[in-house]
Amino acid sequence: MNIAILSRDPKLYSTRRLKEAGEKRGHRVEIIDHMKCVLFIEKKNPMVLYQGRRLDYFDAIIPRIGASVTFYGAAVVRQFEMMQVFTAVDSQALIRSRDKLRSLQILSRAGLGLPKTIFMDYSREVEGVIEAVGGAPVIIKLLEGTQGLGVVLAENQKAAKSVIEAFHGIHARIIVQEFIKEAKGADIRAFVVNGEVVGAMKRQAKEGEFRSNLHRGGTAQVVKLDRQEKHAAITAAKRMGLGVAGVDMLPSSRGPLILEVNSSPGLEGIESATNIDIAGKIFQFIEKQAGKKKALTDVI
Ligand code: ADP
Ligand code: GLU
Repeated sequence: MNIAILSRDPKLYSTRRLKEAGEKRGHRVEIIDHMKCVLFIEKKNPMVLYQGRRLDYFDAIIPRIGASVTFYGAAVVRQFEMMQVFTAVDSQALIRSRDKLRSLQILSRAGLGLPKTIFMDYSREVEGVIEAVGGAPVIIKLLEGTQGLGVVLAENQKAAKSVIEAFHGIHARIIVQEFIKEAKGADIRAFVVNGEVVGAMKRQAKEGEFRSNLHRGGTAQVVKLDRQEKHAAITAAKRMGLGVAGVDMLPSSRGPLILEVNSSPGLEGIESATNIDIAGKIFQFIEKQAGKKKALTDVI
């Protein structure tokens, strides 16, 4: 098949690995920078132009859209959908996953475990908010943060109050969340492809840090999920509508609590922790699904 990886950087581990895995399976794989795609819209003839060429020969695309370019990236993915090209990640699911608050609302409706979370308008009722999630320590998160930046642990009521007021003062949207102490700086990343967990790792924060992100110096190790964790990961990906998802969970005394569902999960950490060919699993998914989806006439 002809497959495009939508990525701005061909040198990234995930991009390189996907190209290599696809070619190994006999596909023609091209890396396309979605920010350089021009969308041509006219009656019944949607087209993507790229460096003076028409991209009308792809059977499938693998979107690897960065959070900062979600709007344009999703528009490019949608254009391919209009051209009946199979996408490993739906444009709607991509947009949904980038809205942390909306994601938590969807997961809550699905009956999945979540840390108690509060969202409010820039209100002055800060004490009540802190109490509602069980009192300090609390976690305060910027709605737009990634890679652990914009996640604050406020150890006491006073700190929590001033951090919330500071964010509100600059009109930054935040959520306030109960701090899950039992997690002890560890979280679980389950990599879900086509409704199955294809690999899982436990990430441990470095000494003196509560955030387990690899970008924040965390280390990863392969882990076997229990039944509850597997169920939570698969259900979360399904409810978010993601064929490929990185589901982050905190282990807790009341079972796994979902933090986030990532629609462009990195391959480096999970492949080196598990030694599993995750990129190959993504191509297996595409090979299986691409034919089916093409039969749909009304994509959106
Ligand atoms: P990001 O999307 O920026 O990675 P996360 O919500 O995943 O933000 O938080 C980053 C890390 O902080 C998590 O991987 C986890 O280790 C830690 N963390 C986040 N929320 C909580 C919480 N409510 N209780 C305990 N630790 C948390
Ligand atoms: N982005 C994650 C981090 O900050 C790791 C890569 C991944 O998403 O798997 O640690």
